[in-house]
Amino acid sequence: MKSLQELTRPNIWSLAPYSSARNEYAGREARVFLDANENPYNAPFNRYPDPLQLELKAAISNVKGVAVESIFLGNGSDEPIDLVYRCFCQPGVDNVVAIEPTYGMYKVCADINDVEYRPVLLDEHYQITADKLLKATDSHTKLIWICSPNNPTGNNINREEIVKTIEGFEGLVMVDEAYSDFSAQKTLRSELSRYPNLIVLNTMSKAWGCAAIRLGMAFASKEIIEIFNKVKYPYNVNLLTQQQALEAMKDPFEVDKWVKLLLEERKRMIDSFKLLPICQEVYPTDANFFLAKMTDAKQIYDYLVDRGIIVRNRNRVQLCQNCLRITIGTKTENGELIAALRQY
Ligand SMILES: *Cc1c(COP(=O)(O)O)cnc(C)c1O
Repeated sequence: MKSLQELTRPNIWSLAPYSSARNEYAGREARVFLDANENPYNAPFNRYPDPLQLELKAAISNVKGVAVESIFLGNGSDEPIDLVYRCFCQPGVDNVVAIEPTYGMYKVCADINDVEYRPVLLDEHYQITADKLLKATDSHTKLIWICSPNNPTGNNINREEIVKTIEGFEGLVMVDEAYSDFSAQKTLRSELSRYPNLIVLNTMSKAWGCAAIRLGMAFASKEIIEIFNKVKYPYNVNLLTQQQALEAMKDPFEVDKWVKLLLEERKRMIDSFKLLPICQEVYPTDANFFLAKMTDAKQIYDYLVDRGIIVRNRNRVQLCQNCLRITIGTKTENGELIAALRQY
């Protein structure tokens, strides 16, 4: 791996971050807060929230098995996705490599930050080799994006190839594990200490059932997290989100129950899809959704919309021609979809 200083944009490396009122007294007992021009009335909403979200991070550390100093929390995964470009990629100069197809935000954030995005096509099994990814890099490649289980294809990316990519690359490897709660594959966040160039993303938007509160996580070395903390907005995770996430962390068994239920439903849905004459193939999945090749994705999509049922049309995505992406819902919702498709 190159040194973190070589990988970081020079202006970010030398940045003197904003020091918030609440940062400066940190560590000592305080009773009277007359430092931040807050209104003393309307507790608890009158006070700025903890800029480093330490109470929440302690709870997340317990659940995820990652040290507090290796955790960054943001306004959804969207925030760390954007932040890695702003911290490491010089606009107009640096580039990133990513598997293709994958989650759309990696490219959108590259475009916003004027960073060249180099997609590398998956094979017919939606897999990739480390060699292929590494061949697409050059001396200006700062990041490689891998999403596992991948969106929209649903499958795990072969773990050995991910590890080879991490070990073979001089820059940073981003592994988005947004759907890892649904997968049996061993997570990479448990191996952070072995790979100083690894950044793992998690979110509360999927298995944790909290898309509305906007809480995303990045797990990485303490040194990388310190760079993120310099660049992020001082109060990037609001109090309501911190409180709600803390509540959710108290009951991880509820998440386990949801996951189990959704995986049972997934099996039922896939079995039903395979019997539909309009379904040509269901691809293997390790997530709470699956990709299905249909006879005519566009027409079937429109037909479903007319009946108030919304799925994701991935027809225009490379390697996903005529594919619909189906999220697993409740038993009732899933039943409605199947009933509508049987009448098509
Ligand atoms: C849904 C999803 C996310 C979640 O993004 P949030 O901003 O945390 O809601 C992240 N990565 C992938 C691949 C996703 O599909």
